[in-house]
Amino acid sequence: MIRERAYPVDPWHIRETRLDLDLLAQSESVFALANGHIGIRGNLDEGEPHGLPGTYLNSFYELRPLPYAEAGYGFPESGQTMVNVTNAKLMRLLVDDEPFDVRYGELRSHERVLDLRAGTLERTVEWVSPSGQAIRVRTVRMVSFTQRSVVAFLYEVEPLDGPSRLILQSELVANEQLPPMSKDPRVAAVLDHPLQSEEVLEQRTGGLLVHCTKASDLRMAAAMEHLVDAPGKHAVTTEGHPDWLRTTVACKLEPGQKLRVVKLAAYGWSSHRSLPAVRDQVGAALASARLDGWEGLVEAQREYLDAFWDHSDVKVEGDPEVQQAVRFGLFHTLQAGARAEQRPIGSKGLSGPGYDGHTFWDAETFVLPALTYTQPSAAADVLRWRHSTLDLARERAQTLGLQGAAFPWRTIRGQECSAYWPAGTAGFHIGADIADAVRRYVQATGDYDFEREVGLELLVETARLWRSLGHHDRHGRFHIDGVTGPDEYTAVVNDNIYTNLLAQQNFLAAADATKRHPDLARKLGVDDEETASWRDAAAATHIPYDRELGVHQQSEGFTRLQEWDFENTPPEAYPLLLNYPYFDLYRKQVVKQSDLVMAMYVRGDAFTPEEKARNFAYYEARTVRDSSLSACVQAVMAAEVGHLELAHDYLGEAALMDLHDLHQNSRDGLHIASLAGTWISLVAGLGGMRDFNGQLSFAPRLPSRINNMEFSLLWRGLRLRVNVTAEDVTYSLRNGGGSARLVINHHGKDVEVTQVKPVTVPIPPAHPVGPAPTQPAGRAPVRRATS
Ligand code: BGC
Repeated sequence: MIRERAYPVDPWHIRETRLDLDLLAQSESVFALANGHIGIRGNLDEGEPHGLPGTYLNSFYELRPLPYAEAGYGFPESGQTMVNVTNAKLMRLLVDDEPFDVRYGELRSHERVLDLRAGTLERTVEWVSPSGQAIRVRTVRMVSFTQRSVVAFLYEVEPLDGPSRLILQSELVANEQLPPMSKDPRVAAVLDHPLQSEEVLEQRTGGLLVHCTKASDLRMAAAMEHLVDAPGKHAVTTEGHPDWLRTTVACKLEPGQKLRVVKLAAYGWSSHRSLPAVRDQVGAALASARLDGWEGLVEAQREYLDAFWDHSDVKVEGDPEVQQAVRFGLFHTLQAGARAEQRPIGSKGLSGPGYDGHTFWDAETFVLPALTYTQPSAAADVLRWRHSTLDLARERAQTLGLQGAAFPWRTIRGQECSAYWPAGTAGFHIGADIADAVRRYVQATGDYDFEREVGLELLVETARLWRSLGHHDRHGRFHIDGVTGPDEYTAVVNDNIYTNLLAQQNFLAAADATKRHPDLARKLGVDDEETASWRDAAAATHIPYDRELGVHQQSEGFTRLQEWDFENTPPEAYPLLLNYPYFDLYRKQVVKQSDLVMAMYVRGDAFTPEEKARNFAYYEARTVRDSSLSACVQAVMAAEVGHLELAHDYLGEAALMDLHDLHQNSRDGLHIASLAGTWISLVAGLGGMRDFNGQLSFAPRLPSRINNMEFSLLWRGLRLRVNVTAEDVTYSLRNGGGSARLVINHHGKDVEVTQVKPVTVPIPPAHPVGPAPTQPAGRAPVRRATS
């Protein structure tokens, strides 16, 4: 686990001041750079030692057979695994014939800094070779936000004590050897030599490699070029082989002299385009990078991020650790989605191979809320990607004997890739999650063109799925049976409350949208009878409730299941999925992650405040948070029911998920849902922001240690800033001109905000709340008020 000391608290940087080889893989995820299209892990420049080498292109995958002990009808036949593509990070150095390798010689100093405003990773090292030659190496790398196909590296090296002969070998390497895979199902399958060489081109200062995959039939190219600045005599040569290309710079330097090499690299891939077309595409990307040069790329990166932070930053005063973590989370959320451009956002972004690089509901439910209100075009692009996979989802529905579209629980390209149907196929709520993301995006942006082009069809086809999956019983109640909700420790249940409430909303959102676009609805074959059947089903949706206990049931019968014996579950038995059979987890009251509590957040309009408080306490005592998707939601609901200190604790857990490696698997990639969830914990949790039925509302209240919080939101083109103190809240509009006005709801009362006049309103006194609910033995979050 990364110990706290590893990353000192700093509002805008993640700094590592010593190299711990046991923690290398985790730090490679923390220091990963990406733009949504390309991702590179924070591997050391010289490639070794490494935890997990990784370079990824969004949606570049290989197919692999899915193993089944006993196959069944409708089981997906093949899986998709994100490929570790050609590595452009490699820059090996030889110092007077000795390879620069931190495992040998003496590492006098080491520092790596992820600069969240510059969008760069900088490394500064002083190293003494085994034979006594001291050097200083400074490298800076970036994955460009402004040129989506471009990655750039700066490498500077100088001898410190005496003259030295330096050889820098800068490479492109395909089919790197990867460490063996563990048995943890959350780890990716390793593919052996996934890339087949198609072309090698070498020129004096760089070149290009083209490869294709064997089964998925995708083609990729990687190209590089070097701008060398060396005092005096030096030689530059390049040689190429099917799987590697190497540019070598050789020079002799005196102390005080420096070798400076800028490496520009470009990536491209396609499932359709010809070899020459893909080759030309990366050639063009490289030409464009050359035009800007290193300085130009760095400047453009900073400008891009300045604009992002200007409208997306969340300021938190009183808890500097959380402040740093929130920005770290927002930065990685941006990196996961900024330039994904109609490709999915994986649960690890492009920071590691975990979960095979698949996208899950994580994207629509956790990442998209943050992007919708800060970077709406990126949110729209993810939904456009979903829309582009509609035919596959329709086909899947047909295979399952259903109507409409059944979106995959996990996928890269759109086909269902889950080999475990109780937590895959049965996780139908993904459809309603997509519909909810569509509803939220259209409502927040007023982008009705998007609704016409993409949104309506997604809403209609998901509504159709629910209509055919559910049924009215003899009393007319509408049930959805045999599905799995967010809590994967309770599978294949009847009337999961989250699924039912989201399906209900899906029906109504679809029916309302067809009214706005009747012509298009007709083209999709929707008639009055169909929309009436959606409204009927919505009105009759069954919501399971236990009258005796006075709480809702996560699914029908949940509250009568046997209790899990938490007292006798040792701390090392978590996560339970690695230590207990699903058979046992499924038949007891043990909750992996927020499920009903999640429903109370996203469908808060369906519960009374008293119900929320009682339900929250009941499910807190049974939720173990074996998923990283839980803490942020528990923060939101803890705040809503008045347990602000507990909300702060959960906020801390969500925020520090990867910086503190809380689930001990950050090595496989970052937990993007939790990182984006940090924004949710702050804005929807402490800020109390909700967007039910087109109304933006806030109910801010701060825990004792946080004395000020500020965030901004984009709402229909207006930029609303919310500044919260212990006593009051100031709402202001930052654009829109003199006539711009926005009516929001503050703790139940309407407040009008104009650009001319910020409004400051008091925070009403909180209702007294009882003692904070308790968690299962040993599963309470770390207390932040005292930490
Ligand atoms: C969680 C899912 C989540 C997946 C990917 C699982 O452990 O239970 O809700 O979608 O991880 O993050």
